[in-house]
Amino acid sequence: MSILKTNNLTKHYGSRTAVKALNLKIEAGQVFGLLGPNGSGKTTTLGMVLGVTNPSSGDYEWFDQPGSAESRRKIGAILETPSFYPYLSAVDNLKAVAQIKGVPNDAIDKVLKTVELADRKHDKFQTYSLGMKQRLAIASALLSDPEVLILDEPTNGLDPAGIVEIRDIILSIADTGKTIILASHLLSEVQKVCSHFGILKEGQLLHQGSIHDIEGEKVTIEVGATDM
Ligand code: ATP
Repeated sequence: MSILKTNNLTKHYGSRTAVKALNLKIEAGQVFGLLGPNGSGKTTTLGMVLGVTNPSSGDYEWFDQPGSAESRRKIGAILETPSFYPYLSAVDNLKAVAQIKGVPNDAIDKVLKTVELADRKHDKFQTYSLGMKQRLAIASALLSDPEVLILDEPTNGLDPAGIVEIRDIILSIADTGKTIILASHLLSEVQKVCSHFGILKEGQLLHQGSIHDIEGEKVTIEVGATDM
């Protein structure tokens, strides 16, 4: 079963083409790195398949079904850092999210453990470091036990230790069998965590394949040319 398939997905903003005739194919269990420099169309692509940005043309399928609110229900996504209540603890913030999503509170302890915040769960959100905030965002996206987790530049702004923590968490989530889509401008990040990748440049997919291909000379040259 394919998890996500886009069919000539295209987005124009006025005369600017942000995403051009994109044909992505992501299979179950992959950790898929959508790799490209800033402005290459990663966020626009994710916005379209998540139903928050209207495509100009083309379409997409989740789980071999035409993209719809129903098909997107099995997806957990963080496109931008969600807002949490600064004066509430991580647990209480997740209780609020659980209520909005209509999921039981039972999952809260499990997701906090997954993102390694169990021992800080009663601390107020405002005392959290940027890395901890990002991990809480991942916990929040996992609350509904989605089949697919989408992360847009999850290590942006983090220090080296915070980056390693997020990478380890992504790998441990992948181990549970979830499909992960990770947008990143960092080749090294994609190489460390992804099983598959696609390279976007100026809205076009230059290459898509297994992570082993990335070491191929052709791909290296293309990535180098994008100045990531
Ligand atoms: P970044 O990591 O900087 O967000 P990206 O690869 O995610 O980059 P997009 O944000 O998808 O790229 O942007 C792709 C192109 O579309 C860019 O040229 C951007 O300026 C343009 N763009 C994105 N959103 C809009 C918008 N709402 N209106 C006009 N142009 C936009």
